[in-house]
Amino acid sequence: MVSIFSKIINREIPSEIHYEDDICIAINDINPKARIHILVIPKKPIENINSSDENDKEILGHLLLVCKKLAKKFKISESGYQILTNVGEGGGQTVMHLHFHLLSGNAVTL
Ligand code: AMP
Repeated sequence: MVSIFSKIINREIPSEIHYEDDICIAINDINPKARIHILVIPKKPIENINSSDENDKEILGHLLLVCKKLAKKFKISESGYQILTNVGEGGGQTVMHLHFHLLSGNAVTL
């Protein structure tokens, strides 16, 4: 099934886009859980970390570096932020297309 994030990537559904390149897109979360809540999503429809493999190394590294770049853009590099990814329903994943949550403003406590 085509995920809602693939539809956003293909411009079939609107969203607030903060960053895009050949590998990924970064959008505002529609239901923010923090003052800043951005989703960094690979264009390749990897379901989650469980279904990633050695071939996805470059993509996974790239997503983290884009999180860092966005943290700088949103001026949260110094104050701090969280990068979080849910894996599977039991891990709280609701959209089955890999994404990193970039969060800042009110921390999720672990
Ligand atoms: P997760 O629960 O980790 O799978 O995260 C999915 C996230 O996607 C949730 O925080 C949702 O609020 C967010 N979300 C769902 N639909 C959209 C959408 N159309 N645009 C932006 N964010 C969305």
